[in-house]
Amino acid sequence: MLKLWQRIRRIGRIAERAPEKPVADPAAAAAGLRGSVQIRHVDAGSCNGCEIEVAAAFGPVYDAERYGARHVASPRHADALMVTGPVTRNMLVPLRRTYEAVPAPKLVVAVGDCARNCGVFAKAYGVAGAVADFVPVDVEVAGCPPRPEAIVDAVRKLTGR
Ligand code: SF4
Repeated sequence: MLKLWQRIRRIGRIAERAPEKPVADPAAAAAGLRGSVQIRHVDAGSCNGCEIEVAAAFGPVYDAERYGARHVASPRHADALMVTGPVTRNMLVPLRRTYEAVPAPKLVVAVGDCARNCGVFAKAYGVAGAVADFVPVDVEVAGCPPRPEAIVDAVRKLTGR
């Protein structure tokens, strides 16, 4: 136990320094978000590259939770959906149902180029379209995959912190 405590003391904080506070998203203010956001993640057909970056954004180095963002298990507990990947035919109905299950007012963050415009999967036989084709999108995060800093920046726009 003492060794563990000494190691924690020696390593100290490993989180990145907080960058400049981004300008709050007007949709978040309209939705009444003040300081925190509960997020339900939906993989609508991603290659999982975006998931790795989302996990990094919420890990100890980028630590998105220090800005008030938190993942939740149920859409009924969420303020916002974070959607990755193009919307595949198999995920179209689950995405719509998950969106409907989030209590209003609700926000949608499309993470990655596939979510924004189908990216490298555009016109693939299993792809139904981009996220905005099926649910209203409030914030987009560009990149294939997007950098964790960009994902953290997007959630900070929602929490305003
Ligand atoms: S944007 Fe890139 S990393 Fe993300 S799901 Fe599409 S192909 Fe994968």
